[in-house]
Amino acid sequence: MYSEYFDSSTLTAEDNNLLSEFATRRAIILHFIRQQRKYVLTCPACAFPTLHHQGGFETCPVCDWVDEGQDDEEADEIWKNRNGKLSLTEYRVATGYALRTLCHEQKGSLVADPVEIIDVIEQHEARMDAFQETNSMNVDDDHPVWEAWKKEKAKLKLDLIRK
Ligand SMILES: [Zn+2]
Repeated sequence: MYSEYFDSSTLTAEDNNLLSEFATRRAIILHFIRQQRKYVLTCPACAFPTLHHQGGFETCPVCDWVDEGQDDEEADEIWKNRNGKLSLTEYRVATGYALRTLCHEQKGSLVADPVEIIDVIEQHEARMDAFQETNSMNVDDDHPVWEAWKKEKAKLKLDLIRK
């Protein structure tokens, strides 16, 4: 059905390291949320538990991947919809590098404990709900409220880094 594929043989050793970090993070978080029977899904691109409806076109607040239902089995396919010209595999790698850069800038590392991760994400969701309750979001795309909204959203990534 999808004629375009990413050639995963072009991945570098470093790219593969990032993919295995992703897979490890996802396995740990998945194990935890199943054990705790939490109703949350891990993002197919960054592994953080940010989604609530499988394939529900939610945008991950950590990596901005739009969940169209693409996952491991089709990871090398290029769907060219909301996630642009990247396959899921390439998006995972790009997200891995972006998070690594942010950790360097913040002189810290990503939180690894699932309890802490879920706590940070729940706080983020409460903060964003509060923001939307106090600010009318029914405004043009260039309204300053969107800049404030982006800043509020960006706090999540920083909160996922421990110094
Ligand atoms: Zn994500």
